[in-house]
Order: sequence, then C-alpha cells, then structure tokens
Amino acid sequence: MTERYTTTDGGSPAPSDDQSLTIGPDGPILLQDHYLIEQMAQFNRERIPERQPHAKGAGAFGHFEVTNDVSQYTRAAVFQPGTKTDMLARFSTVAGERGSPDTWRDPRGFALKFYTTEGNFDLVGNNTPVFFMRDPMKFQHFIRSQKRLQSNNLRDNNMQWDFWSLSPESAHQVTWLMGDRGIPKTWRHMNGYSSHTYSWINDAGEIFWVKYHFKTDQGIEFLTQDEADRLAGEDADHHTRDLWQAIERGEYPSWSLKVQIMPFEEAKTYRFNPFDLTKVWPHGDYPLIDVGKMTLNRNVTDFHTEMEQAAFEPNNTVPGTGLSPDKMLLARGFSYADAHRARLGVNYKQIPVNEPQVEVRSYSKDGAMRIRNVTDPVYAPNSYGGPQADPARAAEVRWMADGQMVRAANTLHAEDDDFGQAGTMVREVLDDAARERLASNIVGSLSDGVQEPVLSRAFEYWRNVDADLGKKVEEGVRATVR
Ligand code: NDP
Repeated sequence: MTERYTTTDGGSPAPSDDQSLTIGPDGPILLQDHYLIEQMAQFNRERIPERQPHAKGAGAFGHFEVTNDVSQYTRAAVFQPGTKTDMLARFSTVAGERGSPDTWRDPRGFALKFYTTEGNFDLVGNNTPVFFMRDPMKFQHFIRSQKRLQSNNLRDNNMQWDFWSLSPESAHQVTWLMGDRGIPKTWRHMNGYSSHTYSWINDAGEIFWVKYHFKTDQGIEFLTQDEADRLAGEDADHHTRDLWQAIERGEYPSWSLKVQIMPFEEAKTYRFNPFDLTKVWPHGDYPLIDVGKMTLNRNVTDFHTEMEQAAFEPNNTVPGTGLSPDKMLLARGFSYADAHRARLGVNYKQIPVNEPQVEVRSYSKDGAMRIRNVTDPVYAPNSYGGPQADPARAAEVRWMADGQMVRAANTLHAEDDDFGQAGTMVREVLDDAARERLASNIVGSLSDGVQEPVLSRAFEYWRNVDADLGKKVEEGVRATVR
C-alpha cells in the first residue's frame, strides 16, 4: 500500500500503471478498462493548435517597478511613482513552428502582461522598433511568405524576397533584420519595443502619443549568421534554455523602460507619420524619458498552462493608456483576441495565467470551459444592483477622425517615404564592420534560391536603401550565384 497512489482523472485509485485489463495475459483487451481508455483518449488530445505566428517561444514571471515620475503624462496606476506590479513576459520567433530553432534570423516577439490594480495591461511588441508594413491587409500575406511553400512544405527565400521586394515599405524592417540585431545572442541581450505608437491620458484629460522602449540592462549582444546556424543544429532551444538557466542561477535579467512622448497636436504636422509602423521617431526629436525597470525572476513550472496558454493582446488597456490611429495596432486589437478564442476557447481569460488580479465584473457568461459565471442579473441596465459602467474611471482615449472612406495611406507628412529611415540606419548608425556584416547577410540570403525577376528587384530595393550597399549586394550575389 502506498499513500501517493495514482488516481484516475476522476480521483479514484487507479488499478495499474502498466497493465491493461485483458481476458488472459494475451488479451483481448476489455472495453470496460475505463482507465486505459482515459489514458489513450487524453493523450490524443494533449496538443492544442500552436500560435500562428510566434509559435516558438518561452518566458518568465517577474515584476515592473516605476522609478521615475511620469504622472504628468498618464494616470495609469501601473506607471505611478514607486508602484510595483507583477508581470509575465514571453519572447518568441515569428515564422518558425513550435519546435523550430531559436536562432533563425527573425524578429523576436516581446510580449508583456502586467497584472495591474486596474486590470491587465498588455504590451505585445517586438525586439525591433518598426515592422514590415503599415496596413493590416498585408499582414496575412506577409506571414505566409515567411513560412513554407504550399507544394513541398519547405521554407523558401525566393518567396520571402518576392514579398519584400514588392513591398518597399518593408525596407526599414528588413535592413534591421539583416543587420546584427536580426539574431540576438540571447533574449536577455535584446531590447523590446512597443513598435506601435500608443496613447496615454493624464488626470487632466490631456492625451499624449507614446512609444515604449525596454532597453536591456544586460547589454545588446548578437550572434553572427555562422554562430546562429551552428546553434540551430546543436541546440534548437538555445534561447529558451539560456533564459531558464539564468533565472535558476539567480541571475535575473532586467530591462529599463523608457518612453518617447509626443504631445497630441504635434502628430498632425510631424515630419514623419507618427502612426506609421515602418517608422521610428528619431531620438533627437523625441528623447527617451525614464519610467522604470522590469525584472524577470521566476520561471514557469508548467509550460502548457503558464506559457502555451498565455494570451497577450494589445487591446488589454487600462485607464490612462490606449491605442492610437496606427492601422496595424487597431487591427491587432481584433486579431489577437480572435486568435485566442480560436486557439484556447472563448473563455481563455479564465485560464489562471490570463486572469487579472482584480475582481472581474463583466456581463460575459457561459460558453465552453467556463469555470465561474456571472450571477443574476445578467443584463444591464437592471434594477437589481448589477455593475454599472463608469466612463470617468475608464478614462478612454479618444481622437478626432473625419474624411471620406478610402483605401489609401496617409501622405501628408513631409518626410514620409519607404527608404529614408532605412538609409539613415545604414549610413549613420552602423559602423563599417556592421555594414560589412549587413551586406554579407543579405548576400547569403539572396544567394540561397532567389531567382529572377525577384533577384533584380531585390538589388533595386537595396540601391534605394543605400547606393553603396546596393552595389555591394549585387556584386556579392553575382559572384556567388553563376
Ligand atoms: P540615434 O543615433 O539617436 O539612435 C540610433 C539607434 O539605433 C540607437 O539608439 C540604437 O537603438 C539603434 N541601433 C544601434 N545599432 C543598431 C543596429 N546594429 N541595428 C539596429 N539598431 C541599432 O538616431 P535616431 O533616433 O535618429 O535613429 C536613426 C536610425 O536608428 C533610425 O532610422 C532607425 O533605423 C534606427 N533606430 C532608431 C530608434 C529610435 O527609436 N529612434 C530605435 C532603434 C533604431 P537603441 O538605443 O534602442 O538600442
């Protein structure tokens, strides 16, 4: 007799860990072996759909502490001086599947959930300050072009470059991706950016546009293409393992949060469209302002319930924070929650890792897998003391919109183009050695299966970013591909 005996999922003592119920030792197996059937049926249903995209990733719990006073810009409790908030972070690649190597060249997801006293606040960013496109109509096509061919399920550089070279607005992000930061040494050694412009609102009701920058306190470090290729074979989980081991050792990684703040009215006349996700706000125009520090100090202990089922969504805003007219961000407000409903079920916010640390008093009810429910009355307005919305407390951020219905990008900002900021990065941010590595990474990628007419269009794309870089890329590829 043992006290720690196995049970069935119903909690009764299990009959055996290793023998099924048969007529005689050679069978047949009996249908009444409920325990065997439960084991097999449960096993068949262990997998849930992986994320589409950002399937490969991991993260940890921690806290965020405010060290500076930014209350003149936001009334959000999570950003008030001295506030300390529990949080969860998840890092990921974009295109790879759940078992794919951590070290493929790809942007890294940088998804954060803050369990604030005013409800959950999520920031679902990347380790890059920009993105490949500015309109959500192209997002689905973009991701497909980075994944696998329909015919043979192979990844294909030709498909990637076909999409990029036909989408010139991708140039800034592709330049960034092909540079050193395109493969971080570890997740601890990369920055996180909101990439999008969000909004803040203060106690007086003034609105500001805001970009979040999480600067690594470990310092930026990267892998060369050769190092990354080797690691992809030797340890596909290199980044996952690094984070987990660092936290186990007590070396808690941290990031300093800084923000760029743009007064509401300046957005109209700023030289770049501040809501265009392919653009940064140069630091010289909008310097970084200190806010606080996030530290990761607790590993997950159940990867499935705490990480696979973690659901981040940019529309988890709290009073004092909001979205902006960035079309990509507005679309993500729908698509993330929709993806979670499809993947985890309509009641995914009742999974403990997604639950806020405040009482939920919504009128949502029922549905698959709901484990706690609303009580009567189940409608509003009502005469029986049910919760009532408090618009003043919600402090919703609003802005003016007027105009004809169009399908078009904003062209009112003086310096908006597709290649300018990418060129600035190549010429003014990178040094000679980094420019060499950038050219070499592009040549390597273009020399691996990219064909005409995509190839010539890619050369033109790089000439538009920077004439010297374009020349170097074309010469390098022509010398490699004969
Ligand atoms: P700054 O000189 O003030 O900033 C340049 C920034 O570039 C640095 O602060 C650093 O960002 C980032 N950087 C440095 N090396 C690399 C690299 N190898 N790959 C990617 N990024 C790198 O100039 P501006 O603000 O005027 O921006 C100039 C260009 O710098 C932009 O066109 C953009 O391409 C790039 N950049 C700008 C950022 C911004 O928010 N303004 C952020 C990141 C890049 P960090 O300090 O965040 O590490």
